Amino acid sequence: AKKQGKQRFLLYEPAMQAETECRVRLKNGLRRALQKQELYLVYQPVYRIADGHIHLASFEALARWHSDTLGLVSPAEFIPVAEESGFIIPLGEWAIREACRFIATAIGDTGRAVTVFVNISMRQLLGNGFVDKVCGILNEQDIPASCLGMEITESVLAADFKACVGILEQLKALGIKISLDDFGTGYSSLTYLRHLPIDVLKLDKSFIDVLGEAEGGKGEVLAAGIIQIAQQMGYQVVAEGVERLEQLRSLIGRGCDYYQGFYLSKPLPVPEALELLPESVVK
Ligand code: C2E
Ligand code: CA
Ligand code: CA
Ligand code: CA
Repeated sequence: AKKQGKQRFLLYEPAMQAETECRVRLKNGLRRALQKQELYLVYQPVYRIADGHIHLASFEALARWHSDTLGLVSPAEFIPVAEESGFIIPLGEWAIREACRFIATAIGDTGRAVTVFVNISMRQLLGNGFVDKVCGILNEQDIPASCLGMEITESVLAADFKACVGILEQLKALGIKISLDDFGTGYSSLTYLRHLPIDVLKLDKSFIDVLGEAEGGKGEVLAAGIIQIAQQMGYQVVAEGVERLEQLRSLIGRGCDYYQGFYLSKPLPVPEALELLPESVVK
């Protein structure tokens, strides 16, 4: 990288150029992706366990981009590009509307409420008139605000803590559920936890990865401690990235509230997600 000194100049330059070209292609492709309907959402179920049974609790909506020229591009690649270029504003609005449409369909099919959490970027949250836009979408899709959840990350908060808290409070007052994503990967998490108007805390996958291997190891202690602190502060805890039965067992033993991960289900296309919903009560 750059800081390794001048002698690296020749090695570093072409690599940087390649990265730039790639980003430019992604950026240009993204601009057309919305119109060309190359973007879609998949829905990963979140479960809770009660009376020895597993129940669907909510979904997390995740963006997918199938480009006709680039193929399937991961959100880990295109979301940062969208954030940088400002395209995250229309993309983010599209994602909220799309998720609300899913909620409206689910309510129409089953006669029951379903909650869908949408990932929200900082630029989007702090963008002009975000709360009004969200209200507009809820009205237009004619769904209750309590069916919509928003996931924000710690990096969102680092940028402009006061402004973020203000907006989150407005969203929460509407009835929208707020979830703190990737918890434990940022800094000073525990300090600001008590000032946040959140409902849910998502324990990052890195905490889950180490579970079940060495029972009573430091990883177990850390996860158990965070679950306990969060619950005592009145937050519900979601474990994300649960890939193995031992992890699920360990989390159940620690009294975690909700579970999400490939062991339970991958993110699903709309028809498969709708199939998980309880039978219609209106028919
Ligand atoms: P995230 O919000 O932390 O979402 C969780 C990611 O982990 C998703 O990757 C999901 O598919 C994946 N995952 C779920 N269970 C497991 C598991 O058991 N094992 C493993 N290895 N992975 C699991 P995905 O869909 O590729 O999304 C990556 C990131 O892109 C998301 O991380 C989120 O930060 C961002 N993202 C996705 N869709 C949107 C969106 O609509 N808006 C915004 N702003 N960001 C989005
Ligand atoms: Ca998320
Ligand atoms: Ca996450
Ligand atoms: Ca993440």
